[in-house]
Amino acid sequence: MYYILKGHNFIDETVSVIMLFYPNDKYIKTDEIQDGITLLSGLENTEAYAELYIDGELKARRSEAAESSDRREIKRALGLCAALALKTARNIPLDWGILTGVRPAKLVSEAWNEGYDTDEIRDIFGRKYLVSPKKLELMIRVAEQERNIVENGIGKISIYIGIPFCPTRCLYCSFTSYPLERYKSRVDEYIDALIKEMGFVSAYAAGNEVESLYIGGGTPTSLTEEQLERLLCAVEKYLKIPAEFTVEAGRPDTVTLEKLRILKEHNVSRISINPQTLNDGTLRLIGREHTSAQFFEAFELARKAGHEHINTDIILGLPGEKEREVTNTMKGLEELSPESITVHTLAVKRASRLKETLESYDMADYALMERLLNIAGEYTEKMGMIPYYMYRQKNMAGNFENVGWCREGCQCIYNVAIMEEKQSIIALGAGGSTKTVDPRTNRIERIFNVKSVDDYITRIDEMLERKKALESLL
Ligand code: SF4
Repeated sequence: MYYILKGHNFIDETVSVIMLFYPNDKYIKTDEIQDGITLLSGLENTEAYAELYIDGELKARRSEAAESSDRREIKRALGLCAALALKTARNIPLDWGILTGVRPAKLVSEAWNEGYDTDEIRDIFGRKYLVSPKKLELMIRVAEQERNIVENGIGKISIYIGIPFCPTRCLYCSFTSYPLERYKSRVDEYIDALIKEMGFVSAYAAGNEVESLYIGGGTPTSLTEEQLERLLCAVEKYLKIPAEFTVEAGRPDTVTLEKLRILKEHNVSRISINPQTLNDGTLRLIGREHTSAQFFEAFELARKAGHEHINTDIILGLPGEKEREVTNTMKGLEELSPESITVHTLAVKRASRLKETLESYDMADYALMERLLNIAGEYTEKMGMIPYYMYRQKNMAGNFENVGWCREGCQCIYNVAIMEEKQSIIALGAGGSTKTVDPRTNRIERIFNVKSVDDYITRIDEMLERKKALESLL
């Protein structure tokens, strides 16, 4: 797939629109029309246009005058022309239109802040970005849920702690995650480094109102009971424990009653136990190495230990899964009645094993993904849940979305803070990405920790040095 840019240089934006129509292709920038498919994206003053050539022959031309010379508006007009031209060759449904960003609900919040009312927002995103009425309603529902949480959280901070170890690596994983078997000997040193970082950050936690605390990964419950106890004692010593304190207990095979009790004793208010699917064949295929029975058992143990807010993550579009499998997963969750369910759609990430072996799997197409999302949506609505946060990723199967559903009052503040970017989040641990937000200007600054566990341990003093920038940013 070739593309030519004339009068502008928005490479990423152009490629991301092409990817909507030709996912998993190679995108080659060129100066001349080639054999095969070539998209020419051009700009003259504020007039955007796109031409689609197949084997050298012009098949479609679309143009759109941008309403201003604002960069965002220019990019929108270019994207719209490209999408309309490409659609003549490949008429695939475009539920999200030309919106390729990660945070669609945030766009609604921003438009409200700029003074647009909800009907105007429907018109703008429907007409100028080609978003379908169904997705528009989802964006607005989620933005309404996020609005109160965001307003409440302005001026406060959240804290994230990363535990990058897992029992095995899932087929689709692209996170910072290290197989425990190989890294077992480094876990204690990692916790030592984390505690050092907590000690350093404690001054910032003391000087600000901490609204939510989140220990994620990886799989935090892959730590031993002693390591978990040591970690949580340090959290209590150095950080203020807010009302919302989440710990991911993602892999059911890492959960024990004792670990769940330790979490409860240290005032963890929300845990996440994630089956991803309740079909044992798929679990084996995606390298989870636990069964659906282990998930049910872990969930029951969590209730027994007194956990009142349990989230469960699932993924739609896993290899080979169709309506029957997803219905089975949703039925199982309905029986357990968790407080929240995050419904992901599979993203094929570059750093995953899935990407390398994609061709050997039976993957869902757009129509199937849509049916699977409908099934999941019917069950969550039936369980009385509302969509309260949402994000999209590149390379998602069918270009859909991930939605957090919850019962009223069970919204996770941390998840909303990540999406809306109105609150500073201090991130500790390997791969941690701290983000500070200036509430007056919305200016965002980032401070990164190194990704590798080995580097994090040996360069912990350098990580603390980097965090000194918080002094002027918080
Ligand atoms: S549990 Fe999560 S972090 Fe761990 S390997 Fe699987 S996808 Fe990656």
